[in-house]
Amino acid sequence: METIYDEIEIEDFTFDSVTHLFQYPCPCGDKFAISLEDLQDGEDVAVCPSCSLMVKVIFDPEDLEQYVEEISTLSSDTTERSEIVSST
Ligand SMILES: [Zn+2]
Repeated sequence: METIYDEIEIEDFTFDSVTHLFQYPCPCGDKFAISLEDLQDGEDVAVCPSCSLMVKVIFDPEDLEQYVEEISTLSSDTTERSEIVSST
């Protein structure tokens, strides 16, 4: 049976746009982690890999859009910039 340690707003997580991971400090010193893809799949429980504590992520599907945008901005940055330059 799953035991949820706490419920954390997605805004309180740190988002890494390279690994696509949301992380939140765990009392054990490690970090709870859940990926953006998991959240998009409807998963909402982040697990600490060290002590296996779990927290529930509080979010609305719309909340994910800004993070998706953040990733796509990063990955398509060079392409978009050259497009802007050539069209000017
Ligand atoms: Zn932990």
